[in-house]
Amino acid sequence: MNTDHVENVRIIVAGPRGKMGFEAVQLVHETEHFELAAVVDTRNNGLQVKELAGMPASDAKVFDSMEECLGAVEADVLIDLTTPETGKRHLKLALDHHVSPVIGTTGFTAKEIETYRQIAEEKEIGAIIAPNFAVGAVLMMKFSQMAAKYFSDVEILEMHHDNKLDAPSGTAAKTAALINEVRPPKQQGHPDEKEDIEGARGAEVDGLHIHSIRLPGLVAHQEVIFGGAGQTLTIRHDSFNRRSFMPGVKLAVEQVTQLKTLVYGLENIME
Ligand code: NAP
Repeated sequence: MNTDHVENVRIIVAGPRGKMGFEAVQLVHETEHFELAAVVDTRNNGLQVKELAGMPASDAKVFDSMEECLGAVEADVLIDLTTPETGKRHLKLALDHHVSPVIGTTGFTAKEIETYRQIAEEKEIGAIIAPNFAVGAVLMMKFSQMAAKYFSDVEILEMHHDNKLDAPSGTAAKTAALINEVRPPKQQGHPDEKEDIEGARGAEVDGLHIHSIRLPGLVAHQEVIFGGAGQTLTIRHDSFNRRSFMPGVKLAVEQVTQLKTLVYGLENIME
């Protein structure tokens, strides 16, 4: 991607002690045209980032309140990797302070997205909410939608660590929705099939089945398996650690400064 248009971007990271936030601080520190303006952390108020365990040698200040941070620091972008509730609050505060939010938390309703889109457009600033920053996962979804035009039989197998509370994963549900936008309606499997053990055929979304596996050792993986006469096609993506999300965070930061609206979903900024 051409990033010639991107000048020095001053960035606040919220949630720097978290698994995602920690990687985001490293990303900002390592990227030449990014500058860490501050971090927002519920602990360590008043310290400098370099004083926190494992953090890079940055003089940026730690604030325990987003309000105070936005009032005290000159910044272009806020990266929020906290919790769904805090992510929403921080998004609104960033927009109020004319700072472009890049939000990685989930749980936004369609109505909330529309409300924030209107605010961003009124203020003529960019905002991105990306429930999935994994560029490879977004491509897996796009490629699956392409393949579904030619293969109407498809099953999704999503595999995650056993601390995950929800099933199926948001990525699997979204993949199914994208596939069902283009594939002819179809009830898969044999018309007379029955489950001898309940759940054996997985969850069903408009005739398409999703299977959720939960095991220690896994991180986030998905296979989309298409079947046709005499052939199968498998599209697979694996996230092995939180670093896999950082190219997507970087892309979002670079793009958000060019926007004057809110974009929901990384796929909408990937050409
Ligand atoms: P995590 O390790 O639990 O980190 C969350 C961090 O947020 C914690 O350090 C927590 O601090 C901090 N936090 C909570 N409320 C805060 C507040 N008001 N101000 C500042 N910091 C606050 O979780 P994670 O795995 O890094 O994930 C973080 C978020 O990103 C989650 O919402 C997760 O669902 C999401 N996520 C998104 C993607 C994506 O691709 N978009 C991928 C993975 C995860 P305390 O310890 O003080 O509570």
